[in-house]
Amino acid sequence: MKPEPSMESGASRESCGVFTARRHAEFCSILAHADAIAIVAESFSGGSAADVEARALLNAGFRVLPVCAAHEQCSWSEWMAGSLAELPVRGKNADIACFICQTDNIFSSAPAILRWEIFPKIVWTQGTAPDRLIAGQLEDRGISVMQGKSISSAYAELFDESSPYFSCRRCGKCCEGRGGIVVSPRDLPRLCMFFGMPAKAFLERYTENMRNQPVIRCGSDGFCMFFKKGRGCSIHPARPAVCRAWPFFRGNLVDHVSLAMARQDCPGISRECSHAEFAEEGYRYLCEYKLRAEDPQTEGRMLIIKKSELPVGARGENVK
Ligand code: SF4
Ligand code: SF4
Repeated sequence: MKPEPSMESGASRESCGVFTARRHAEFCSILAHADAIAIVAESFSGGSAADVEARALLNAGFRVLPVCAAHEQCSWSEWMAGSLAELPVRGKNADIACFICQTDNIFSSAPAILRWEIFPKIVWTQGTAPDRLIAGQLEDRGISVMQGKSISSAYAELFDESSPYFSCRRCGKCCEGRGGIVVSPRDLPRLCMFFGMPAKAFLERYTENMRNQPVIRCGSDGFCMFFKKGRGCSIHPARPAVCRAWPFFRGNLVDHVSLAMARQDCPGISRECSHAEFAEEGYRYLCEYKLRAEDPQTEGRMLIIKKSELPVGARGENVK
C-alpha cells in the first residue's frame, strides 16, 4: 500500500525539525527524512530517558547529536563527540530530526537551539504551552512553533508528499509480488526503530536475499508480509524508500510504454498528464523527498535516474 500524503524534507536547514514523540513507531515517519537526530535533554546520565532514547537511535544506526539544555552541548561519550564534530561537515546535506525527551525542555533549550549552526524549522511540543517570549524568539528566526497536535496531524501538516499526478487509492495491488521491496542502508535504521530490534535480527526475520540485496519477504498469498488486507501497509511510517517512491520509478519516468502499463495496474496514477509531465513531476518528487538512489549494489535500482535520462520536455525549469 502506498503512502498517505505525508512529509517533506529537503537538504540542510530547510528540513530540520524539532519534535517530541515517545512512540518509536510514530517517530519513524519523521525519521524517513533524517540522517542525524538531535536529542535535547537536561541530562544524559545512564538510564535516563534521554540516554535510553539516544542509545536506541544509535543502535538503529542513526548519528545522534546530544544537546544538553543546561550545557548547550553535552559530550555524552567520545564517539558521541565524534558525531557532533562530523555534523557541520555532513550537516550540509543532512536532515536533522530533533527528539526532545522532556517536553518542558524545549523552551528552556530554545536559546541553545538558536545558536546551532543548523537550526530547526519547526519546534513542536505536545506538552507545555510555549512561553510567549521564547516562542516569539523562535518564530522571529523563521521557526514554526506547533503545540498540542498529534504526531500524525503535525506530520501531515508539515510534510506534504502529495503529487498532482498521483493519489493512492489503497487497492494494494502494488504490494503483491516477490523481490521488489529492497531494504537499503538508509531504510534499515528506520525499520529497526519501528520494530525495536537490531539490524541483524530484522534482516533475518523479515527479509530474504535476492540479487545480493535484502528484500522484504512475501506471505503465502504472494503479498508483502507487511500488507494487511483491509488495512494496507502495517509499517507505513517506516516503509522502505521503494514503497515511498512508487509510481515514480525509473522505468515509468524514462519509458512511456512502462508508464502506460503502470497506469493499467495502479488506479492512483493520473490519466490526465502527458508522459513528459509525469516524468518531470516524478523526478522532482524523487529529488525533493531524497528518494533518488545512486548505488545499484545497495539501493533500489528503480530509483536510480539522472535528469539527462528524462524524456525531452521533462527537463524544464522545475527540475533541478
Ligand atoms: S496500486 Fe496504486 S492505488 Fe493501488 S495501493 Fe498501490 S499505489 Fe495505491
Ligand atoms: S512495505 Fe510492503 S505492505 Fe508496505 S507499502 Fe511496501 S510493499 Fe506495501
